[in-house]
Amino acid sequence: MKSPEDRAASRDSIKRRAEAPGDGNTRCAVSGCTNLTQRGAGNGLSQTYCKRHKEMLRRHGSTWRRSYSRHEVDPYRAASKNWTDANKDSHAVKVTLQCLDTLLNTAGEIVTAHEVRWLPPKRKAQVALARFRETGRTGEDLLHIALALEAAYRELGPRANREFLHVQIAKVIHRAASGTHPVTSGGVNLKPSWPRPEGRMMRILGQQVREEARVFDMDGAVEAVMKVVTG
Ligand SMILES: [Zn+2]
Repeated sequence: MKSPEDRAASRDSIKRRAEAPGDGNTRCAVSGCTNLTQRGAGNGLSQTYCKRHKEMLRRHGSTWRRSYSRHEVDPYRAASKNWTDANKDSHAVKVTLQCLDTLLNTAGEIVTAHEVRWLPPKRKAQVALARFRETGRTGEDLLHIALALEAAYRELGPRANREFLHVQIAKVIHRAASGTHPVTSGGVNLKPSWPRPEGRMMRILGQQVREEARVFDMDGAVEAVMKVVTG
């Protein structure tokens, strides 16, 4: 891990580069967008995207597709739960559930919302899993989520954007764990301010869960879920 001095130096360097005057002539790579890139406009580091599209990518995993709404995902989650209930005695699913339980059980301890800010993304992803575990959820819940999002992604797109899928899996996990560990101060419940669900941590979290869920050949299950939802 970087020392505090190294981190301060790299923060300064990022700040300096982000605030350097723009060159004024590089355009955002998103088709139809006429904005200057962040570097071009002197408002950030990206040499590929404008500020708006870079922010969109960070939060949703796509420059143009917003995250799925609950309304979009709920039918897939219900169908995935039914599929898992009907198949959880099969050997392949049992092995998968063990892997997902292990992922939760090896995620370590929860740290406070304040401390988590200073952790590297990989550890932040573990803390998100630990918070999910502390709500009493198990590998079975992770399997529902991974299966539901895989089916939704194949049906709704965006196509060929694995990063979007990873972020969507992570969003559902994150949302399920929100509200855990309220902080009390002088008898008043304060909402702990966990870091916003965005950035690198979300990619790592979603990818890990998806990889463990794919220990068995998921295709048959995904097709069954899609069929239930689309009829
Ligand atoms: Zn743009």
